[in-house]
Amino acid sequence: MSRARGAKVGVVALQGAVRPHLEALADLGATGVEVRTPADLEGVEAVVIPGGESTTISKLLDSSGLRLPLAERLAGGLPALGTCAGMILLAEVVLDGRPDQASFGAVDIDVRRNAFGRQRESFEADLDVTGLPGGPLHAVFIRAPVVERAGPGVEVLATFGGRPVLVRQGPVIVSSFHPELTDDRRLHSRFIEEV
Ligand code: GLN
Repeated sequence: MSRARGAKVGVVALQGAVRPHLEALADLGATGVEVRTPADLEGVEAVVIPGGESTTISKLLDSSGLRLPLAERLAGGLPALGTCAGMILLAEVVLDGRPDQASFGAVDIDVRRNAFGRQRESFEADLDVTGLPGGPLHAVFIRAPVVERAGPGVEVLATFGGRPVLVRQGPVIVSSFHPELTDDRRLHSRFIEEV
């Protein structure tokens, strides 16, 4: 974890739950910076795309001019953590998306938006996460997406109801839930180790 100290991690700050991610990064000794413009990406060693509304963030990625430079950095192997809407934005295919919504294709998964339906719009669950020491991870799901297809290069790290909710491909980790909304920093810590 010592390598986390001082690592410059961008948090895409166009909409959504930005602050809790900045707090989690600060707790781990990383330097979180809000990314709103292409210039903000400079020197960033990893990026977080937070939860929020993926359709709105998608629009703002275009109007801010961030989409292309961020896509280039991701294609170049920039470590990324996507939570909830962030998972949707990093996915290869978005099901039940808006027609004008675009995603980066940084993880070879198909995700379905709002997949748990009205009755389970928000819920919490304890997840067993592959390779995460210290017991189950308490996870908060809010209008969460679910992974309906994971490609051969994708490692499923946790499931809920038999469906993947935490996966990783290379330096990209995406979760259906919000690890930033609990005090448990293990997932951010694991992500920071990628940097
Ligand atoms: N349902 C939202 C979307 O489609 C994601 C919800 C969240 O990020 N908590 O973007």
